[in-house]
Parts: sequence; structure tokens; C-alpha cells
Amino acid sequence: MSDEEHRPATRLVEAGRRKAWTSVGGQPGGTVNPPVWRGSTHLYEDMADLAKGRPNADGHFYYGRRGGPTQWALAEALTALEPGAEGTELFPSGVAAIASTLLALLEPGDELLLTDNAYEPTRNIAFGMLRRMGVTARTFDPMRPETLEAAMTGATRVVMLENPGSLTMEVCDVPALAAIARAGGALSVIDNTWASPLGFPALERGCDVSVMSITKHVGGHSDLMMGSAAAGGPMLERIRLTAQYMGQVVSPDDAALALRGLRTMGLRLERTAATALEVAQWLETRPEVSAVLCPILPGAPGHDLWRRDFTGGCGLFTFVLADADVAARARLVDALELFGIGYSWGGFESLAIPVDPARIRDHRAWPEGIDEGSGLGLRLAIGLEDAGDLIRDLTRGFAAMGTA
Ligand SMILES: *Cc1c(COP(=O)(O)O)cnc(C)c1O
Repeated sequence: MSDEEHRPATRLVEAGRRKAWTSVGGQPGGTVNPPVWRGSTHLYEDMADLAKGRPNADGHFYYGRRGGPTQWALAEALTALEPGAEGTELFPSGVAAIASTLLALLEPGDELLLTDNAYEPTRNIAFGMLRRMGVTARTFDPMRPETLEAAMTGATRVVMLENPGSLTMEVCDVPALAAIARAGGALSVIDNTWASPLGFPALERGCDVSVMSITKHVGGHSDLMMGSAAAGGPMLERIRLTAQYMGQVVSPDDAALALRGLRTMGLRLERTAATALEVAQWLETRPEVSAVLCPILPGAPGHDLWRRDFTGGCGLFTFVLADADVAARARLVDALELFGIGYSWGGFESLAIPVDPARIRDHRAWPEGIDEGSGLGLRLAIGLEDAGDLIRDLTRGFAAMGTA
């Protein structure tokens, strides 16, 4: 394979399609996609083959828990898209990828420093499960690298980043934060779900491990759950062993769906980002809106860092209502016909969900310098619908706000 020589759009098409996984031995030709290789039992040729064993790496038939060609093809494709990665481990959900990665890298007595705008389940892992295991967790303000520097101690082993942050969408200076972690002897792990490696080459920007919820952009069709962790050699080995100790495995059916989604991910990201920009620009003109927190929107908080560090975006962003109570926000959301109400994002369909970050933040709730308005937010996941139709739907929602 010569994946490294090609640009990302081409790699999206060719990655993971090894001849060995798309054809039958002794037969010319083959299929475009690796078939769904269902298998719990893997068979050995003879006793000598069994005695020889297998390397613990993708590409070797051993037992179903180590996956088969369908899962290997997906992992290989994801590795080809993440510059600097030597491999990718798959997990049954994004949360499983985050939990397992942190478990792999932390030991009792270690300290985890967590960006304050981390995905809420990541906070729960840090302050629930990991704390019970003797790992101390504290948060830092991602927009003030000096708070990370001040929080680092000799026990800090992992710094957990997310860019942009969940709900409030701050873009942080990942190269600076990763450098602070490294200088203090800690590893940096990033939740890179928003941009995917297509929009943010996390390892190239200084991170040690790049974790992603495949459920979102890679799946892309709201019909599967999966996660991944990509890293260089030594880290990858620890993450892989931890995943194996815990029996983490993904089904070949889901891996085939994820591979199908991956082929069009670049197109979907471009299109949803373009539509999101149009919707965000329109929202800025609305009197009901006090702030639009959309990294790809010129003038929005973090836009300059987004331009410096990212090569793409996606359709997920948040806006703040200028003057509304919880009931008015509910009327807005209930009046929407094209936006479903749901927690996920990255699918072909648009979604809306209320956002109240103050509940889970230790530092500030909203980014500095924005007009916090009512303090009530709404997060939109823009799908593949027509931008004008989505704007008309939101217009209907705003009209419903005032009619108690
Ligand atoms: C959804 C999400 C996850 C978790 O992914 P699941 O596949 O739903 O477990 C992790 N991080 C971010 C930023 C997410 O939005």
C-alpha cells in the first residue's frame, strides 16, 4: 500500500482495501469492499501451526476477540488517515475508547488533568471510576494554558484534551497544551471526534493518543456505535493489551458499516460544515441570539486558532439565546420539524439539543468575551438537508418562542 503518498481524499477511498481481505486465495479479481467476516473461532492448519501461535497484531487469525479482516480493514483505514499513527484500536463505543485509553495509561497514585470543557461522560470516567482506582483528577481552563502549567505536578501522567470543547466549542491551543504536558512528563490524549483526523491531525499537533467516537462522523448514518484510539507504537501496545484484558471487541457487521461510512466522510464533513456556516451566519443576524459559538464562523471565539490548526470542520455548533427562559427554549425546539431532539451528531440528519454547561464546569461556563445572554444554549448538529430549509425551520422555532 502506498497510502502515505496520497492526499486524504484519495486515502479515504483506498485505505484498508488489501487484496488479502477483498479476494479469495487462488481466484483472480475480488470485491471492492472487504466482506463481513463473521467468526468467533479461527482455525489452525495443524498442531505445529497451533504451537507456533500468532503475533498479537491485526492481520493474524487467532481468535474472534482479536477481530478478523473486516475489523482489521477498518483499523488500517483509520490509521492511514491519522498522520503519525502506527495503529488504531477499535472499541464498541467512543466512551469505551476513552475509558480504556485512560485505564491503559494511568495507575493508582497518578494524576489526570482534564480540560474543563470535556465531554460529560469523560468527566464521569475521571471523577467516578478512575477516582475509585486511586487516580486523582482535576480540571484546568483550556483557554488559559498557564492553568495547566500551574496544575501539573510530579504525579501528572495524562492530560486529557478536547478540541473544540464539548457544548461551548472553545478552540484551545493544542500544540501549546501538549507541549506543557510533555515538558512535565505527561502524555496528552485528545478526544478528536469533532474534526476527525481529516480536519485535525492530532498526533502531528503534538498529542500522543487520538481518540474518536466512530459513532459520529465515520458511521455518519446514526446506525452504529463504535470508538477508536490511534497512537504510536508503545502507547498503542498498552491500549491494545488493556482492550484485550477487558474483552473489548467490535462486530464485523458494524465494522463494515463504519467502513462504508468512512468512504463518504470527507464529502459529508465538507457539506455539513458549509451548511453550518450558512446557518451560523444567519443566526448572528437574529435578535433572539446573543452569541454563536461556531469555530468555523469568522469572528466567533476560537476562529483564529481554528484557522491556524485545523484543515476542516463539521456541522456541530452551539448558539446562546439572548433573552429566553427554559420554557421559551423548549417551545423553540418543539416547533422544529427538521431538527430531531437527540444527543448524538455526525449523522445525515440535523439534531438540536439544549446546552447548560454551568452545571458541569469548574471554571467558567461560557467562553470569555461572549455575550452570555440568557445563559441558555442550544446545540445544533447540521446534517445534509438544504440550508434554506433548515433556516426556515429555525425561523419557525424563533416565532414559537414568543407565543407562550
Ligand atoms: C458522542 C461523543 C463521545 C462518545 O461516543 P459514543 O460512541 O457515543 O460512546 C465522545 N466524545 C465526544 C466529543 C462525543 O460527542
